[in-house]
Amino acid sequence: MNLHEYQGKEILSSFGVNVQRGIVATTPEEAVDAAKKLTEETGTGWHVIKAQVHAGGRGKGGGVKLAKNLKEVEEIAGEIIGMDLVTPQTSKEGKRVHQVLVCEDVYYPGDNEPEEYYMSVLLNRATGRNMLMYSPEGGMDIETVADETPDKIFTEEIDPATGILPFQARRVAFNLGLSGKAFKEMVKFVMSLYTAYDKSDSSLFEINPVLKTSDDKILAVDSKVSLDDSALFRHKDYQEMRDIREEDPTEVEAKEAGLSYVNLDGNVGCMVNGAGLAMATMDLIKFAGGEPANFLDVGGTADAKRVEEAFRLILKDDKVEAILINIFGGIVRCDRVAEGVVEAYKNLGDQIKVPIIVRLQGTNAEMAKELIDNSGLAVESAVLFQEAADKVQKVLS
Ligand code: GDP
Ligand code: MN
Repeated sequence: MNLHEYQGKEILSSFGVNVQRGIVATTPEEAVDAAKKLTEETGTGWHVIKAQVHAGGRGKGGGVKLAKNLKEVEEIAGEIIGMDLVTPQTSKEGKRVHQVLVCEDVYYPGDNEPEEYYMSVLLNRATGRNMLMYSPEGGMDIETVADETPDKIFTEEIDPATGILPFQARRVAFNLGLSGKAFKEMVKFVMSLYTAYDKSDSSLFEINPVLKTSDDKILAVDSKVSLDDSALFRHKDYQEMRDIREEDPTEVEAKEAGLSYVNLDGNVGCMVNGAGLAMATMDLIKFAGGEPANFLDVGGTADAKRVEEAFRLILKDDKVEAILINIFGGIVRCDRVAEGVVEAYKNLGDQIKVPIIVRLQGTNAEMAKELIDNSGLAVESAVLFQEAADKVQKVLS
């Protein structure tokens, strides 16, 4: 589950990581109140208004702006709230902004060279260990840094038995070229950042930029946090941070129906049981000259109700030109699934305008084929993987 910048900063702050202070606002009036409050607390006269959407690169899209007085706070908040923010990480339609974070300006006037660093904590899948990735080249795309100056990216692998050790945090501060007070602040920052990542069961913490102010404070100016969904049951308070307005509506619906569904760009809808078979099926579709329109795992119990729900999800996507159902009947018998398909088809009848190819393999596969073939519905059955691929190819050509 992804979080908004302000939510990520709340978590960071609760673990003692220094963050740029901010208050969320949903209207220009609230933004002005937030700015006044921040001025009382921090003494800042300037504020930064930041769009809160689940996408990075907001600065480039006009979603992060500096306001030098309360009138500008009101104007800028008015512009950003309600806009469809387009950034390099959104679709071309952009993301609707429902709220802004009004922040203290931490780039002090007169401080011409604020130091910006990049820092993230994530799982290194190759080693199975968490790692800290960081760079003195912050504030810009880390992908660009990785392409052009890979030697400017450093990593620190964390041993799960010990967690992060102080010498590692000192090495980070050293590689970032810090000394004196800033060095000590960075060591503290790194230690608490890792603790926050670890204790919140996250899969990603990305802070870009981490800022060194001219008076040697180290602050998280941005935050991108992904929590591990499988560990969310341990964090009731984080569950409430979910903002479904930011998620794909079809994926939200699928989750509620207990189906794993990921929307893709292609033209062949697939309905499969088991994630491995789903991936193999997507390959099969590609070999047949199509592109998968989705990943959909209906799980172990492919009964009529779930099959119908899965049909509904796939049919919402008007790019779909054919549907391939590929089910392996192990515990769930193929004839039961076939009955489910026929029943669901009858219920949805007139909504289904695309050809359907069903491949059922495993327990009672032949019986299932007979059921489909004798149903009188416009459904093609196949038993072999290749046969299914050929039929997909035929309907697409
Ligand atoms: P992103 O574009 O979505 O990654 O959003 P960020 O939170 O990283 O902000 C984008 C850029 O806005 C940063 O790289 C900074 O250069 C700038 N910015 C953020 N906070 C402040 C601030 O307090 N003052 C000023 N002047 N600029 C800021
Ligand atoms: Mn950023």
